[in-house]
Amino acid sequence: MPTPAILWDVDGTLVNTAEQHFRAWAAFAAEIGHAFTRAHFAASFGMRNPEIVRMLFDANASDERCAEWGERKEQLYRASVRSGGVELLPGVARLLAEFAATGWKQAVGSSAPLGNLELLLGVTDTQKYFGAVVTGDDVRRGKPDPEVFLTGARKLGVEPAACVVLEDAVAGVEAARAGGMKCVAVTFVGHHPAEKLRAAGADIVVASLEELSAERIAALVAG
Ligand SMILES: [Mg+2]
Repeated sequence: MPTPAILWDVDGTLVNTAEQHFRAWAAFAAEIGHAFTRAHFAASFGMRNPEIVRMLFDANASDERCAEWGERKEQLYRASVRSGGVELLPGVARLLAEFAATGWKQAVGSSAPLGNLELLLGVTDTQKYFGAVVTGDDVRRGKPDPEVFLTGARKLGVEPAACVVLEDAVAGVEAARAGGMKCVAVTFVGHHPAEKLRAAGADIVVASLEELSAERIAALVAG
């Protein structure tokens, strides 16, 4: 029976920083004289910065401008995380420790840029659990492409079939399945409903990671 490895999504799974992202986009939009509403935020959720910039602020923005504006938004986001802090979602601290105690390898597979992830893992004191951290800067194609999770598996030295991805978004579930991995989806933050996560291929959907145990994950990989 293969030993499972765990690949963690970050935003919405490990921590919830949606409000900090919203505030950062709203502050950035104000700087360039645009509006940014809750509806804009909902429409942009899960998209990468260049796509958001072109959809909401300037359809003809150059790659350079997208990078510059995206970086400004991330500066505002990191300042918000630094000043307000961020907490692990329910069940996360216990699972991180339980998986580590069982000897399972763990990695981060996130679309977020490296600077954000370093900050989040630092603020929550969780770096020690991860044998690899794969960021949006490390991949050419974002989720639902499996590149981010396949890269994580390769860095851990684990076959995709032995990997279990923890996710909260449809694109992330699709990425896990496209990579030949098992997937547990969590609806706690509530960006996507259980039916959609199940339809995308999640093997287990839980309302909170408090419901999950190492035993249940081991059974998933064994089955
Ligand atoms: Mg997520």
